[in-house]
Amino acid sequence: MQSQLRVLRAFYIISLLKGLLRYHKIGNDRFFDIKIVEGKGIGLFTTIPRKKGSLVFIATGPARHAHFEGEDCYIYPDWYGVDKDTWIDMNLPYIKINHSCDPNTGIDGHRCFVALRDIQANEELTFDYSISDDEMDWTMTGKCECGAANCSGFIGPVQTMTQERYARSYPYIPKYFQALYKKANTDVS
Ligand SMILES: [Zn+2]
Repeated sequence: MQSQLRVLRAFYIISLLKGLLRYHKIGNDRFFDIKIVEGKGIGLFTTIPRKKGSLVFIATGPARHAHFEGEDCYIYPDWYGVDKDTWIDMNLPYIKINHSCDPNTGIDGHRCFVALRDIQANEELTFDYSISDDEMDWTMTGKCECGAANCSGFIGPVQTMTQERYARSYPYIPKYFQALYKKANTDVS
């Protein structure tokens, strides 16, 4: 009886350890890693080099449909916009991708993140959050601390982007936001 209990206990411990290992692997997809970035919290990294123009990842996760305005803009979680009131609620590890005013990926279509330049192995992956939001009531609270040499100092809706900043992500910007940007920049009289 005692030895049977010991065997059961051993199985229990092994299954706990297996569970912990599986948990640890979340976010460490084959070619990705999530690591702590100083001053920014957690970030998404590529473990292999990526060529400019190549597909880096396809963002998996459910699409959400919701409209936000006013104070609502500050309650939604880490979704990114792809069309009018349409958002992608990314799965791990992709959801850990940080913002940069000088990003190394952009969005082709709704879910394909494409390299905007050659990316080294173990480099952090980023995209410009401003290419995926249109709500004029929204700005990310506080000053942008992305660390880019050409940081704009803020993250707001696509209509507020400077031409230079917009061009860094172009053409990998969802079509809906491209149209809004064009409209905002031709309506100015
Ligand atoms: Zn910045």
